Amino acid sequence: MFCDWLNELQRFLHWGPVIVFSLMTCVTWTTVHVNAMWWPPAESFNAAINFVLIVFFNLITLYHFSMSILVGPGLLPKHWRPENPEDEQFLQFCKVCDGYKAPRAHHCRRCKRCVLRMDHHCPWINNCIGWANQANFFYFLFFFMLGSIQSALIIGFSCYEGIYRRALLKQGDTDGIRVVLTLRSAMACMYSLGIVVGVLLATLKLMQLQIKAIIWNLSEIEGWIVKKAEYRRYASSSIGIAIPTFDYPYDMGVWRNILETFTPSNDGINWPVRPGCDQYTMTREQLAQKVQKRARTRTYRCIASATGYWLPILSQGLMVTICMPCADDPRIVVHKGDLVQVTRVQEYWLYGERVLSKREQKLQKKHQLKGHIRGWFPRCCAVEQFDEDQSAGDTVDVTHNTDQKKTKTGSKIKKRKT
Ligand SMILES: [Zn+2]
Ligand SMILES: [Zn+2]
Repeated sequence: MFCDWLNELQRFLHWGPVIVFSLMTCVTWTTVHVNAMWWPPAESFNAAINFVLIVFFNLITLYHFSMSILVGPGLLPKHWRPENPEDEQFLQFCKVCDGYKAPRAHHCRRCKRCVLRMDHHCPWINNCIGWANQANFFYFLFFFMLGSIQSALIIGFSCYEGIYRRALLKQGDTDGIRVVLTLRSAMACMYSLGIVVGVLLATLKLMQLQIKAIIWNLSEIEGWIVKKAEYRRYASSSIGIAIPTFDYPYDMGVWRNILETFTPSNDGINWPVRPGCDQYTMTREQLAQKVQKRARTRTYRCIASATGYWLPILSQGLMVTICMPCADDPRIVVHKGDLVQVTRVQEYWLYGERVLSKREQKLQKKHQLKGHIRGWFPRCCAVEQFDEDQSAGDTVDVTHNTDQKKTKTGSKIKKRKT
C-alpha cells in the first residue's frame, strides 16, 4: 500500500506536472502582485471576494490536479480473467499484464498496465484518464479554466492601466489609476498574459473533448473503435457483404451518462448496457477489427538501421523529417536484417512491431527488455518481404499512394507475387 502511494507520488516528478506547477505559480504570483495594486482586497467587500476567488480557484485546481494523479484511472488487476471461462473467447489477452482485458479496458504502454475505461494517457498529469479519475480531471479543467479567465482579466486590466498610466493621468482620469509597473513587472505581466491565454485555449479544447466523452459515455479510444466499426460496415457493404449494424452499448442517455462519471455505480469492469446489447458487444467488435488488422499486416525486412529519433534529419534527410507522422506513438530503433510486422504505411514512415529474437522474448517475459518494439520508423529503412502464402487479393492499409512509393524506394523493392 505504502509502495503504491510512493509510486503515485513519483508521478509528480515528470515534465508534465512540473510544467503545470511552474506555469500556475508564475501566473498566480503575477495575478496576486498586480491585483494588490489594481483592486486591493482590503478596499471593499467585493475586492475581498475577488481575492478569495483567486485563492479558491488555485486551491481547488491544485486539489483536483493532484487527485487526478494520485487516484489514478483505476487499474485492471494483473492476471484478470472473467468469472465465466467461456467468456474468455470474447476478450483480448494482454501479454504484458498476463490477463484478459475487461470490456472498456485498454493497455497503456506508458503506465505499463491495463486501465479501466481508458480515455487517454495525459502527459500533463503523467497518468491515464480513466474510470476512477475522469471526474477529478474534469473538475481540474473546469476550475483551471475559471481561474485562468479571472487571471487574464486582472492581468489584462492591470497591464492596460500600467502601460497607459501617463496618458490616462494627462486626460485627468486620476481616479483609480493605481497600477505602477516597473520594467520587470511589466515583462512578467506580458509573459503571464501570454501563458494564460494560451493555456485557456488549450483547456477549452480539452474541456470540449471531455464534455463529449462524458455526455455520450464514449472515451477517446472508443470513439476510434466506433469510427472503425462504421468504416468496416461501409467497406463490407461496398463489396456486397452485409455485417449486422453495431449499436454502441454504453450510451445510456445524457443524464445517466453524466451520473456514471461523477457518481460511478459500477466497478469499472461490469457496465450497464443498452437493451439489445450485452457486456461483450464492444469486445466482439474489437476482436473482429483485430482480425481485419492482422489480415492487413505485412512483413518488412530492414535494409538499413534507424535511430528511433523523432527528427532523424542527419540520418534520413529532410523529407523524412518534415513528413513525420502526426502522432505521439513511439519511434523505434531498427537494425539491418530486423523483421517488422507493419500495419500502417505512410509515404515516408511505417508503423509496426519488431519481431523479437528468442533472447529478446525471454527478456520481455522478465520485463527487462528496454526500448519500444512497436512504433514508427522511416520507410526507406525497410523493404516488404513477400510470402508465398499471402493471398494475392490482400491490400496494405495505405494513407498515401503506396504503388508510386514502391517504385520511388528503388529497385530493391520486389513486385508482389500474384
Ligand atoms: Zn495490460
Ligand atoms: Zn497511462
